[in-house]
Amino acid sequence: METSSERAPLAERVEELLALDGPLPIVAAGDPVLRRAAEPFDGQLEPGLLARFVAALRLTMRAAPGVGLAAPQVGVGLRIAVIEDPAPVPEEVRRVRGRVPQPFRVLVNPSYTPVGSGRAAFFEGCLSVPGYQAVVARPTEVRLAGQDEHGRALDEVFSGWPARIVQHETDHLDGILYLDRAEPRSLASQQAVADRWAQPSPERAARALGFDLP
Ligand code: ZN
Repeated sequence: METSSERAPLAERVEELLALDGPLPIVAAGDPVLRRAAEPFDGQLEPGLLARFVAALRLTMRAAPGVGLAAPQVGVGLRIAVIEDPAPVPEEVRRVRGRVPQPFRVLVNPSYTPVGSGRAAFFEGCLSVPGYQAVVARPTEVRLAGQDEHGRALDEVFSGWPARIVQHETDHLDGILYLDRAEPRSLASQQAVADRWAQPSPERAARALGFDLP
């Protein structure tokens, strides 16, 4: 019965968060929970509690607003993340960034591997690193394995912006922040991105700030 004593604290932590009955507080960079590998999900939350936790993650992601949220970002070290992107962007941005709508999904114990050698670099931000964005070069296409919230196996190829979202969220579960993979010289305030670097591609930013693109 060793496992029950290990499982209890996480379930208690989640119950405490759900008692807030609204969007959950988002943990910011500097908190060690964002730097630890999250525990694989293996029934630590019973099905009803898991469903309520997933609903709270969705509410929090939508309220932020963001296109993905990983459990460690609300202080829960479990390999669970949610993604959703209505992609309300101009046609040119959609074409250049591959930012197509991504329906709501729950990723449980996800892992990804690159498909092919294509890489794409774009400005990216994170709800746990408020106020900034930076350019991150990532594989254009990845194969995602894991489960959904009902325990059904996932094995799916994502490309374009959805591929970026699943990499970013899966990285959170490995204690990796997008800054770890970013071009340091591309770091820009949200204001600077809005004022200067809102073009569909970061080519002008790369020339002006002095960083390389793939
Ligand atoms: Zn993030």
